Amino acid sequence: MKEEQNTRRSFLSRAALLGAAAVLTPRDAVFGHAVRQSASSNFPLAVSSANGLGATAKAMELLSSGADTLDAAVAGVGLVEDDPNDNTVGYGGLPNEDGVVELDSCVMHGPSGRGAGVAALRNIRHPSQVARVVMTRTDHVLLVGEGALRFARAHGFKEEDLLTQASREAWLRWKESLSTSDDWLPPHDMDTRDIGMRALPRERPTGTITCLVRSAGGDISGCTTTSGLAFKIPGRVGDSPILGAGLYVDNEVGAAGSTGRGEANLLSLASAIIVERMRAGDHPTDACLYACKRVAAQTKMRRLLDERGRPAFNVRYYALNKRGEHGSASIWSGGSYAVHTGEGESRLLDSAALFER
Ligand code: ASP
Repeated sequence: MKEEQNTRRSFLSRAALLGAAAVLTPRDAVFGHAVRQSASSNFPLAVSSANGLGATAKAMELLSSGADTLDAAVAGVGLVEDDPNDNTVGYGGLPNEDGVVELDSCVMHGPSGRGAGVAALRNIRHPSQVARVVMTRTDHVLLVGEGALRFARAHGFKEEDLLTQASREAWLRWKESLSTSDDWLPPHDMDTRDIGMRALPRERPTGTITCLVRSAGGDISGCTTTSGLAFKIPGRVGDSPILGAGLYVDNEVGAAGSTGRGEANLLSLASAIIVERMRAGDHPTDACLYACKRVAAQTKMRRLLDERGRPAFNVRYYALNKRGEHGSASIWSGGSYAVHTGEGESRLLDSAALFER
């Protein structure tokens, strides 16, 4: 009984805390920007996570030459999959705990209402392209692991080692700092005792690119691609290849994608929720904030909460709607997203947030 009362009290205080969470106004006036855009929806739009300045520019280049919205999104994220310096996506992505890069991706094509994903795919640097082929050349929606690799081989994708020197060294540093009682030792001198102890608690590196594209005619597609959580258990699949979690598109409504803690996005099916909120009339920013609140309210395990009962991790959402409005929000402030509206260059706008860091 006492335990029940305590649980109820802690639920009520958490509810109050989450209800009272200040919704931070983005410094760059995202609302104002989006409202002006909605006056004329006859323009192309590409939105992505902050690592997608080049990707949104590429997607826009293709759109303006008449490309299909999904081809534009996949070409855009392909630049990041190729980039050895982005260690969260494609070639150069941080590996699993065995030192092997495993990639996740999905695509959705609004005009045809189709979508597909690949998960835990090894040795192929463009999982988004493989996902697109799963969509167009199979009757399936998700291929994983060895089966996804065999499928990619059958379609002529080239196999290669995706581990760069930098990502291998990052993995080795992680492995050597896990424990003082295993046999993996980081560089040390004669006087060091507790070799292998972390100097500071570190956040696990995460990252992904999601890219949402809307043509001037209002067709919508999207793509999400990632190497997932660094040093994950082999076979771990995050939100990025799962339709409804890492990406969701409804050609009549809009599109949403996610980055951040994949497990939270999987448990909340955040992208599908955001699209449903937009269907009900929410602005994309409000729909993204709603998903952040949902994740915060759903997170109950103490190990995932800070001392004030707020999620001790981050998720970030990106959305655009049929009218050409766009937005992004995260649980914790300090994030941004990339936008290209068909004129000038891609630019970064601040994401809204539930809590200030
Ligand atoms: N959502 C990705 C995953 O969990 C990682 C990230 O975006 O940081 O696999």
